[in-house]
Amino acid sequence: MSRPSVPASLKRRLFEEAGYRYAIPTCRATSALQMEHIEDWAKVQKHEFENMIVLCANCHARVTTGEIRKDAVRAYKRNLAIINGRYSLYEYRLMEAFYTKMREHPGEPLQAQVAENDYLHIKGMVDDGLLVLRRTPGGMWSFGLPISPMQALLTEAGKKLINSFFNGRDIEN
Ligand SMILES: [Zn+2]
Repeated sequence: MSRPSVPASLKRRLFEEAGYRYAIPTCRATSALQMEHIEDWAKVQKHEFENMIVLCANCHARVTTGEIRKDAVRAYKRNLAIINGRYSLYEYRLMEAFYTKMREHPGEPLQAQVAENDYLHIKGMVDDGLLVLRRTPGGMWSFGLPISPMQALLTEAGKKLINSFFNGRDIEN
């Protein structure tokens, strides 16, 4: 049986699910995004949303060899809907930066400076208790408005979510 091409609507849905990025957030590839079957095509013989994910060729090879486990790939897929649906792209980038810092400089404080008007970019994480905002006491004011940056500190819940997301474990359980 020859392999039919992936229908355009399914392709769009998969790319939207992944936010037009690789589904595995630790992937640093710069090659083209490609759609892969989680259970091998040879076994399933059909293109189904639930069994497909956007990966780079290298990650796909690591899934095939078992270096990246299939249950982790499924968790990455489940997490995508939550991460891309609930949080802004700014928050996604912040999670990436925090994850990198946790790995490369463990023990260092996990915080970001947030300008007053940027609060809305991180509101999803603040509302979910992943970040807490601290205002610098006696900061600068201009025309009655605070202009000093606030500190956004990552909470324990925030660390847990980021570690789960980047390591292929379900973030909601
Ligand atoms: Zn990859």
